[in-house]
Amino acid sequence: MNDSTSWHERAQALNIDGRAFIGGQRTWARAGQQFDNRSPIDGRELGPVARCGAEDVELAVAAARAAFEDGRWAGMAPAKRKRILVKFADLMQQHCDELALLETLDMGKPVKYSLAVDVAGAANCIRWYGEAIDKVYGEIAPTPADSLALVTREPVGVVGAIVPWNYPMLMASWKIAPALAAGNSVVLKPSEKSPLTALRLAELALEAGIPPGVFNVLPGFGNEAGSALAQHMDVDCIAFTGSTRVGKQIVQMAGQSNLKRAWTELGGKSANIVCADCPDLDAAVAASIGSIFFNQGESCNAPSRLFVEESIRARFIEKALAMVPDFAPGDPLDANTVMGAIVDETQLATVMKYIGEGKAAGARLLAGGERVRRDTGGYYVAPTIFDNVGAGMSIAREEIFGPVLSVLSFTSLDEAVRQANATPYGLHAAVWTADLSKAIRTSRALRAGTVHVNQYDNDDITVPFGGYKQSGNGRDKSLHAFDKYTELKTTWIQV
Ligand code: NAD
Repeated sequence: MNDSTSWHERAQALNIDGRAFIGGQRTWARAGQQFDNRSPIDGRELGPVARCGAEDVELAVAAARAAFEDGRWAGMAPAKRKRILVKFADLMQQHCDELALLETLDMGKPVKYSLAVDVAGAANCIRWYGEAIDKVYGEIAPTPADSLALVTREPVGVVGAIVPWNYPMLMASWKIAPALAAGNSVVLKPSEKSPLTALRLAELALEAGIPPGVFNVLPGFGNEAGSALAQHMDVDCIAFTGSTRVGKQIVQMAGQSNLKRAWTELGGKSANIVCADCPDLDAAVAASIGSIFFNQGESCNAPSRLFVEESIRARFIEKALAMVPDFAPGDPLDANTVMGAIVDETQLATVMKYIGEGKAAGARLLAGGERVRRDTGGYYVAPTIFDNVGAGMSIAREEIFGPVLSVLSFTSLDEAVRQANATPYGLHAAVWTADLSKAIRTSRALRAGTVHVNQYDNDDITVPFGGYKQSGNGRDKSLHAFDKYTELKTTWIQV
């Protein structure tokens, strides 16, 4: 695309195809059902999307199984699989404008982040696992002299992947990249709220050389295509990212069907603890505010509970409020916008419900608290900060998944850590202090899969991402993700 063309003009020219992708081909759902897909940025109709159901799951799983068994992908030399995955990543980068536009129109995030975070991150993920796969060696176990035991990794077979709407392409790539690199076939179900980029990825994967049937995408609803996939007897592993409520159902469905391996990456209510001796208050404020409002607050690891030491609370809040105007929601197709639209009307209603509950419970509203940009026909919420939040309030306990920060203060760090852990979730947490011992003690005490010290926004494909407790049982990213999509095979040989 021509850089001088505005994103709006590019959006007009975009070709949007909502058909499923099964066995290397675009197709409508067998039962002929479709659903409407409206953009949250202005309510524009984006065209019909295939509403896949159990019949389509049957076809996609059969295609994935056949592709797995014919060995053209699973049996391919890892170095060749690598070249194809790297080409897939290259194609994503060549089509970055198109993918970014689709993501923004479908999900509502600012196009500059779709480009710099979502497309770039997803392509990097595909490339990283592609480049890793020809460097994974097996083991020889230390056995008695008259025997040899080889421990090798084999793909699990057919992987079902179900992902949410908040980072549609990134969440899909965190599943499909390690699963495909390890030689599996995949049936991916994107969220019904943002199905478009996953469908386009399947076309690019085919173009890169991934054989037909190895990567299938079924748009549709959770209680239709999603549950049929999770319950399917010929799916060997289900990799789920989404809410804790649905994650529990997925594990149950996996257990009650064929006991398929079930990996879950679930919700969060991350605690961000800022101590009075934090080394750089401006940096703490910038990271705290930037991270809760990034992606409209629709991030599983958003630091939605801020515990700030009482002696610096007033200064922290003053600096935080000075930053809020920078996050005013704007047109997601304007390259300068940093806060876009909430994904749909249902999620908007959820966010507004929590804001109402915060006000009713007596929390002090310092900023935002209202829907804005109504005239656009889209769903926008002003960045919202509540102070004097009580630990028992719903805004302090439940995942809101919107641009709402709850500020709680503390005088005892032990008490802050106790409260930070007093949640069913355990995804991310942070502590800000200049005292290294205190940082390490606090990190050890926090029950979370990731703890940040004196920063919040670091992220890299090389490190595991996942939760403790009801934030899930798996780890996406890093070489550890291969554990989810491979079986360990021991071969004993008599010598
Ligand atoms: P959700 O649980 O409602 O839906 C997630 C996916 O599951 C969607 O594709 C949906 O269609 C499908 N689904 C829904 N019901 C289903 C059912 N009965 N059977 C099978 N599939 C079903 O979650 P969401 O609203 O799309 O996403 C937001 C949630 O995702 C938040 O809780 C967020 O914290 C979490 N999340 C977690 C991570 C992580 O890595 N831990 C990352 C991103 C988002």
